[in-house]
Amino acid sequence: MVLWGFRYLAPEPRGRLPVIPCGTACASESIRNTGIFQLRRLPGCGLQTGPGRRFWVNMLRHGYPWEDPAMLETTIAGSLPKPAWLAEPEKLWPAWRLEGAELERGKRDAVLVWLKEQEDAGVDIVSNGEQFRSHFVHGFLEHIDGIDWQRMTKMGIRDDRYVVDVPTVTGPVQRKGPVHAEEVRFTRRHTRHRMKFTLPGPMTICDTIADAHYGRRADMAMAFAELLNQEALELEALGVDVIQFDEPAFNVFMDDVNDWGIVALQRAAQGLRCKTAVHICYGYGIEANVEWKKTLGSEWRQYEAIFPALNQSRIDQVSLECANSKVPLSLLGLLDSKEIMVGAIDVASLDVESPEQVSSTIDAALEFVDCERLLPCTNCGMAPLPRDVATGKLQALADGASIVRKRLSVSV
Ligand code: ZN
Repeated sequence: MVLWGFRYLAPEPRGRLPVIPCGTACASESIRNTGIFQLRRLPGCGLQTGPGRRFWVNMLRHGYPWEDPAMLETTIAGSLPKPAWLAEPEKLWPAWRLEGAELERGKRDAVLVWLKEQEDAGVDIVSNGEQFRSHFVHGFLEHIDGIDWQRMTKMGIRDDRYVVDVPTVTGPVQRKGPVHAEEVRFTRRHTRHRMKFTLPGPMTICDTIADAHYGRRADMAMAFAELLNQEALELEALGVDVIQFDEPAFNVFMDDVNDWGIVALQRAAQGLRCKTAVHICYGYGIEANVEWKKTLGSEWRQYEAIFPALNQSRIDQVSLECANSKVPLSLLGLLDSKEIMVGAIDVASLDVESPEQVSSTIDAALEFVDCERLLPCTNCGMAPLPRDVATGKLQALADGASIVRKRLSVSV
């Protein structure tokens, strides 16, 4: 029998543990003495001392295949559909269907639904599904001073991909107070899973609001980055395990990313001790994005321009679109110092993936990413999808990861 070695990622405590180099005998004397095990090593993986022993103990206790739950942990990009009783379904900017106190209660109820759905599906690091906000950028901006919501400006956002009316910055921006604290307190109270919280990234904010005050986008981005940082530090203190900044604009303004986008992103994440992440996608599966993708050619190499600088940054995790995308997965090799959330669920399709389709996307990414750094994820948020489709995709994600996890844990 051959056992594949891998690095055990201890959920608690967080620090890195010493790794037994390849070729070293099994950590457990009693197992080694059985004489039936031969250790092999996966590329980039080792066997660990300390809690890594649990792997061997569980192998004996539970038989084969034993699936290590700490490997290939699943998570989602962030948003999930609003239930139809809460807001208009299948819309990116849905109108609420409740008001006042009823609306606040409804949002909380929707969070409970989605926590349960994620946990039951087997998603490891959960999100509140962004049930509290109607849009991922404006949900934050609504709580910021210095923005005139009466002065709407027509703006072509994401490099003129779509034109929308956006509010205008007319003075120095400042938080009116904590923005998401209450929703994080609520979500934290109702799940024991690790929890991700998403915030818009500074560059994407600047691409979703008009400026009549700062003059330079880079300056406005740094101002927003400071506010995001204040917010993120508070959310971390309330028990958030992963703070993710959504930066779809990173795929559009590649020169700006290298000039000031990553600097602003790091300012937003400054001082955080929890995991920090950036999500860079090709957008929700809406018509404008689907049309835009058609113009990008047979190979999408946007990531190539920004990954080298991102790899040098202090951000821990990068969330990417890999399912049904034309991104050459070899580009993942440019992020060898990062954990990678591999998008294995296509949010632009109503077809629910089979677990095998998910596992084959993970397998393809494993050619370029060590298993210890790979987190199976969705390509992007699932907010505009029908609720049943999103639920099915959560299950497919978890089941697909499980297939790979089992295979990597044991090879007979
Ligand atoms: Zn996205």
